[in-house]
Amino acid sequence: MTLTVLNPATEEPIAELEQAGVDEADEAVARAGAAYPAWRSVAPADRAGLLRRLATLVEENAEELAQIESRNVGKPIAGARAEVGMVAQVFHFYAGAVDKHRGHTIPVAGGVAATFREPLGVVGLIVPWNFPLNIASWKLGPALACGNTVVLKPAELTPLSALRLAELCLEAGIPEGVVGVLVGKGSVVGQRLVEHPDVAKVGFTGSTEVGRVVMQGASGTIKRVTLELGGKSANVVFADADLERAAAAAPYAVFDNAGQDCCARSRILVQRSAYDRFLELFVEATASLKVGDPANEQTEMGPLISAEHRAKVSSYVDGAPSAFRGDVPEGNGFWFPCTVLEASNDDRVAQEEVFGPVAAVIPFEDEADAIRIANDTPFGLSGSIWTRDVSRALRVTRAIEAGVLSVNANTSVRVQTPFGGFKQSGFGRELGLEALDGYSELKSVFISTEE
Ligand code: NAP
Ligand code: MG
Repeated sequence: MTLTVLNPATEEPIAELEQAGVDEADEAVARAGAAYPAWRSVAPADRAGLLRRLATLVEENAEELAQIESRNVGKPIAGARAEVGMVAQVFHFYAGAVDKHRGHTIPVAGGVAATFREPLGVVGLIVPWNFPLNIASWKLGPALACGNTVVLKPAELTPLSALRLAELCLEAGIPEGVVGVLVGKGSVVGQRLVEHPDVAKVGFTGSTEVGRVVMQGASGTIKRVTLELGGKSANVVFADADLERAAAAAPYAVFDNAGQDCCARSRILVQRSAYDRFLELFVEATASLKVGDPANEQTEMGPLISAEHRAKVSSYVDGAPSAFRGDVPEGNGFWFPCTVLEASNDDRVAQEEVFGPVAAVIPFEDEADAIRIANDTPFGLSGSIWTRDVSRALRVTRAIEAGVLSVNANTSVRVQTPFGGFKQSGFGRELGLEALDGYSELKSVFISTEE
């Protein structure tokens, strides 16, 4: 069966690909398995060199990769370029980490105890359509650095950048079989990777709903899983904050990537005494966002990924009175307007992940109320706090049940720092040196010194 890949900004087909089924998934796992013994034995400094070469090739082909990502996801080209820049940084970072992921010696009686970090074997990497290349690199970097071989399954809607990245891996000199790409349905080839007895671990990023299926499927083989799932994060604005700065930054926090961002701060909690002023400034900043052709250098927001997804996003706002509803281009494309709703935290729009450009603005009374509302969600991925009071910033960030927080800034996602969720946003960490722990087993060895 063939798969037609669309440009969501025009609805035009941009590629026709052969879809893999269970047999092809098994073949991909077998190829990765065959490549594993040699790959895990490559000297660390040489493996680092290959990853460094891959990073350089990403830099050299950055414009092409950004164009692919922009056309396939509908991302504004400027944002796509920044994402490809991060992909190169990720490979540079893990190239540098290959020979620094160390074990310990541990004081014990009668000999020497040492720990070793061993690769897992073949790992399955399943990624979503919102940041296809970025999220693939977050998994690929540490997986390869630790000496695993991988089968990467991009989302069906956005397979193009993964295919190009696999070519660059070969060009970098990473041996055949070390990185395989499977283009096919999640429910077929994704599920097969999850259940396959020769896959040691699945690194999954996607919805909480599919995350549950992955966790269940992995239980048959006690497979290791890392789950990076959905979010419903809070942007908490205290009355003592620099309101102009907070309001100018807030549209990016919720509308970037047309809101199709697991870290989207889609609940904006504003202290009652600053509520009206903030809402006015936020709506003004939102109204000035440039929505349109992703190929245009000035564009800040493109379309949603698909007609089906647009219908889902619409279901959250249909009939609801909005404080603001933006314009969208006429004609083809899965456009959806930036929408600002005044909400209560109990509303469906404030409890479920919309994954579209919809912001729910919610008032709070005091610090305790802000923390209570921020935590009143099954998710726990991300969040921001805006205040000039450093003690409050620390109290609130420590009290919020989420894995990745920022203070007086929109984003805390950095190559060097761990990223991942609390609660139903998943478990395990990507990025930083911590990601290496998820792609290796810790082995402890005791060597007797008895004569
Ligand atoms: P999704 O529907 O959960 O799909 C994610 C991936 O899983 C896709 O490659 C999908 O393949 C595959 N899949 C589907 N069914 C499967 C199964 N039974 N077994 C194994 N794999 C299966 O998520 P999405 O709609 O692509 O992306 C949006 C979601 O991702 C949002 O909830 C968002 O919050 C989350 N996300 C989380 C993070 C994070 O780091 N926490 C980052 C980005 C996105 P097909 O596409 O072929 O169906
Ligand atoms: Mg999906």
